[in-house]
Amino acid sequence: MTERWTPDSWRNKPIQQVPAYPDLEALESVEQQLAGFPPLVFAGEARKLKKTLAKVAKGEAFLLQGGDCAESFAEHSADNIRDFFRLFLQMAVVLTYAGGSPVVKVGRVAGQFAKPRSASTETIDGVELPSYRGDIISDIAFTPDARTPDPRRQLMAYRQSAATLNLIRAFATGGYANLENAHRWMLGFVKDSPQSSRYSELAERITESINFMRAIGIDPETHPEMRSTDFYTSHEALLLGYEEAMTRVDSTTGDWYATSGHMLWIGDRTRQPDHAHIEYMRGIRNPIGLKCGPSLSADGLLRLIDALNPEDEAGRLTLICRFGAGKVGDHLPGLIRAVEREGRTVVWSCDPMHGNTIKAGSGYKTRPFEQVMSEVQDFFAIHQAEGTHAGGIHLEMTGKNVTECTGGARALTDADLRDRYHTYCDPRLNAEQALEIAFLTSELIKR
Ligand code: PEP
Ligand code: MN
Repeated sequence: MTERWTPDSWRNKPIQQVPAYPDLEALESVEQQLAGFPPLVFAGEARKLKKTLAKVAKGEAFLLQGGDCAESFAEHSADNIRDFFRLFLQMAVVLTYAGGSPVVKVGRVAGQFAKPRSASTETIDGVELPSYRGDIISDIAFTPDARTPDPRRQLMAYRQSAATLNLIRAFATGGYANLENAHRWMLGFVKDSPQSSRYSELAERITESINFMRAIGIDPETHPEMRSTDFYTSHEALLLGYEEAMTRVDSTTGDWYATSGHMLWIGDRTRQPDHAHIEYMRGIRNPIGLKCGPSLSADGLLRLIDALNPEDEAGRLTLICRFGAGKVGDHLPGLIRAVEREGRTVVWSCDPMHGNTIKAGSGYKTRPFEQVMSEVQDFFAIHQAEGTHAGGIHLEMTGKNVTECTGGARALTDADLRDRYHTYCDPRLNAEQALEIAFLTSELIKR
């Protein structure tokens, strides 16, 4: 018999990756304040996303999920959000055109602040301090004060998420995402890149199609899907006190929903079946993701599927696979076969970032573009061989012209990394590299 779930039932379970807050009273007071704040997203939106993801599970749509590894307080600006959003739209158009089917757009945005770390402390020159776990927990500066977890940062993260989401909603529905603007989404610095002419050609074809529709009497202005788009938010549900405070009963169904984002996922480090993170996630009705790394066995996966999606609801569970280039063949077929054998419904997505992080000779953490793309290719090839649907990709990317991942059409080298290495956490694909991944992936999904 399964135990009763409540938004705080996770508190009775063992837990990984928790920050050591020195002031528990202050933490409790912040959680109480958050619990009284308005929801960031609505249950009905999460349900709509779940329905769309059910289409992905059936092979009728494709999931594009991506954004920063971690959002930061310092980089919160309208320009960054706009550049990210238009890059995302470009990628989605490329994939929609190639696949001839809808692309579900889910940003790692408006709430992606908390980071799991491999070690709980960091030592520099003999000084040991708590690891940086994201701006929602502490500042990144390497001083005892900055690295002390401060609960008030959760309020700042909430407010930043609300502001970001507000702008994204405006962009998504206020005309910016109108397909007739497709040629305007090109970012300035990408204009002289190898991807740019390819994208302009595509935008030209879209304009021609719209003109044709008009010529035969269809007014694009009367079709909401031409003028606006559905854009959803997602983040790793790591900081469970914050998530609990944002968990609300949906008045129309009486069910519990996380309202901190539309889709939440469970990280590869916090998916122990009898631990707190799985306990929290099993009770919310949002669509959820589960990171699947090399240490996940087929039996382990089935046990998690039983806990997280006992009723086999389509669209509820997305398996985000992150094995590393050259390792997909060792792990993915076994997982696919177990899921197929048990007749379970899932979305299969590929995160080609987290299994491909290396330390460059220059000392920077980086990801070689070729390795990233090679993992995507293997993911698609294996699904084709197994007769299952390669349903999506999950990327760490930014609309900015950073130098964090090597390779790509401009062949960024180790030596280039120091130019514009801005990430607070993992290295992101820059706009050109991300668009290139979209084009290369579009070759794989072409029917
Ligand atoms: C992440 O998505 O930023 C992350 C930490 O991934 P994973 O849990 O797969 O390591
Ligand atoms: Mn990351």
